[in-house]
Amino acid sequence: MLKIKCPFCGNRDETEFSCGGEAHIARPIADNKLSDGAFSEYLFMRHNPKGVFLERWCHTSGCRRWFNLARDTVSHKIIEIYLMGQTPQTAKGKKAYLDNWRRKSKAEEASKALKRTKK
Ligand SMILES: [Zn+2]
Repeated sequence: MLKIKCPFCGNRDETEFSCGGEAHIARPIADNKLSDGAFSEYLFMRHNPKGVFLERWCHTSGCRRWFNLARDTVSHKIIEIYLMGQTPQTAKGKKAYLDNWRRKSKAEEASKALKRTKK
């Protein structure tokens, strides 16, 4: 069983948490211009690496707040825990973030373009 350190409550057993799947998925805006293929990629394709994976977790039996963690899928070692809206800070976490195919997806490109126009 994993021991997970909730950033708000401290160390707790894994049974108190729910995994929300892959972290850092850019959500397309409502009036996006993505092709059906690019939109289905956003909806259905998930990263599934052997190694460091960035996940969203919720402390469902505690504070009910969401956070991200970087976990090695082979050893289950938790490398880093960080807040929603942040990106990983450790070298392994940063590498996992940048190596994810999603960083080059059409949905993420559209999301970045929207953020640039809002500035
Ligand atoms: Zn908590």
